[in-house]
Amino acid sequence: MEDLRDKYEVVIGLEVHAQLKTKSKIFAPDENEFGHEPNSLVSPITLGMPGVLPVLNKEVVNMGILTGLALNCEIPERCKFDRKQYFYPDLPKGYQISQYDEPICVNGYLNIKGKRIGITRAHLEEDAGKLVHAGADGIAGSSYSLVDLNRAGTPLLEIVSEPDMRSSEEARNYMEELRNIVRYIGVCDGNLEEGSMRCDANISIMPKGSKEFGTRAEIKNVNSFSALQRAIEYEIDRQIEIVEDGGEVVQETRLWDDNARETKSMRGKEDAHDYRYFPEPDLMPLVISREWVQQIKDKMPELPQQKRERYMSLGLSEYDASVIVEQMGLALFFDKVLKLGASPKIAVNFIMGEIAAYLKEEKLEITDTKLTPENLAELIAMIEKNIISNNIGKQIIIDMMKDGTPASKIVEARGLSQISDEGAIKEIVQKVVDANPQQVEAYRGGKVQLLGFFVGQVMKETKGRANPKSVNDILKEILG
Ligand code: ADP
Ligand code: MG
Repeated sequence: MEDLRDKYEVVIGLEVHAQLKTKSKIFAPDENEFGHEPNSLVSPITLGMPGVLPVLNKEVVNMGILTGLALNCEIPERCKFDRKQYFYPDLPKGYQISQYDEPICVNGYLNIKGKRIGITRAHLEEDAGKLVHAGADGIAGSSYSLVDLNRAGTPLLEIVSEPDMRSSEEARNYMEELRNIVRYIGVCDGNLEEGSMRCDANISIMPKGSKEFGTRAEIKNVNSFSALQRAIEYEIDRQIEIVEDGGEVVQETRLWDDNARETKSMRGKEDAHDYRYFPEPDLMPLVISREWVQQIKDKMPELPQQKRERYMSLGLSEYDASVIVEQMGLALFFDKVLKLGASPKIAVNFIMGEIAAYLKEEKLEITDTKLTPENLAELIAMIEKNIISNNIGKQIIIDMMKDGTPASKIVEARGLSQISDEGAIKEIVQKVVDANPQQVEAYRGGKVQLLGFFVGQVMKETKGRANPKSVNDILKEILG
C-alpha cells in the first residue's frame, strides 16, 4: 500500500460540531445539562408541540461570535435561521433549525503548525435528541429503542473547514487546536468521548498533481483524536483500492467502527436540496451590530497559540509549551503560579514532572488535589533561596498534593531544610572520606569519576539535604 500511497494526494475537510455550554437551550428555557433523568429537560418547545414558538437565546449568539472571532472569521451584520427538514425519531418537529446560506461566521482560518487551514463557515443550530438502542444503557436484551429528548435543542456551532488538509496528521492537529480554542474561550467542554464535540471527516483522493478533487466520503462516529486518525488512514486505503481496481468512489456517509477498525457504508449522501431548506418563519433574521462584536472582541481571553508563544518567550521549549497548553487545567494552574512570581523553569519542571505523573497515575485533574498555586509558588521560592534542594522539593510535592500542607510546614516538621553551613558539610565530608580509605586512594590515584560516589555518600548521610554545590567544592578540597 505504501508505494500506492505515493501516487495519490489526500484531501480532507472537517465538519466539527461543538455543543455550546449555555445554561439553557438554544430556543427554549430548559436546562442545557448532561446526565439528567431521560426526558426530564423537555419543555413543549423542545418536544415540538403544535403552536409553540422558538425564542433565540442571546448567550448562544455571544458564544457563536466569540468562537468566530477566535477562528479569525468575519461576523456578517446579518444572519438568519433556516429549517432543515428530515425525519428521525429523535427529531419530534420533523425539522432542525439551522443556518443555511447566511451563517453567523464566515471566512476564517487557523494556522496549524505553520500551515493555514481555511474555515469556510460556522453556523448555529439545535442538536437532536438521542436514541437509546436495544442492549445499551442497561436495557440489555431488549428488542426496542427508546428516545431521550434531553439533548434536543442543545445549542451547536458547526464549524466547517475548507478541504485544506492533506494527511490524517494535519486533520488531527487541526482538530486538537480547535478543541483547545473552544475550551480556552469557555464555550464548549471539547469532550470527544462524551460527544460534546463531534467530528465528521470528509475524505477524497486524487492522482498526485491533479487539480480536480475526487469524490468524497463522509466519515461519522469518530470519538477520539486517535480514532479520527485511524479512520482517515483506513478510508484512504479503501479509496485507493477502489480506484486501483478501476472502480469509482461513491459519495456517501460511512460510519467508523473503532473496534473493527473499518468504515461501513451508512447511507447515500443527501444533497442540500433534499432537505428543502427554507427560512425559519418563527425567527427574525439576526442583526449583529459592530458594537456587539467589538464588546465580545474586547473580552477575548488569551488563545492557545498566544499562550504557547508566551511560554516560549519565558524559556520553555516549543514541545513543553504545547504539552502544557494541551492540558488546560495545568496551564491555568501554571499561569497562577507565574503570577505569584515563581521561576517559570522550576515551575514547569514540577508541573510537567512529578505533578503530571501523579495526576496521570491517579487519573485526577490538578483541581482535584489539595495543591494550591500559592503552595507551589512557596515551594519554588524555597528552592530558589536555597532553603531546600530541588530533590527535597520533589520528595514533598506529592504530600503537598495529597494533604495540602504548605512546603514550609513540611520542611520544618521533618527537618528537611538544606545544609549550607560550610563547617557542618565539612564535618560530614570528612566522616565519609575517613570511612572509605580504599576509594580515597583510588581517587587520588586518578579515578576522578569516584567523586560521584562521595557526593552520593554525603547525600545519603544528610538525607539529600546538603547543598550540592558546597558538597562538590568541599569534597574536591579535602580529596585534593
Ligand atoms: P455537507 O453538509 O453536504 O457535508 P458541507 O459543505 O457542509 O457539505 O461540508 C463539506 C465538507 O467537506 C467541508 O469540510 C469541505 O471542506 C469538505 N469537502 C468538500 N469537498 C471535498 C473533497 N472533494 N474531498 C474532501 N473533502 C471535501
Ligand atoms: Mg457533512
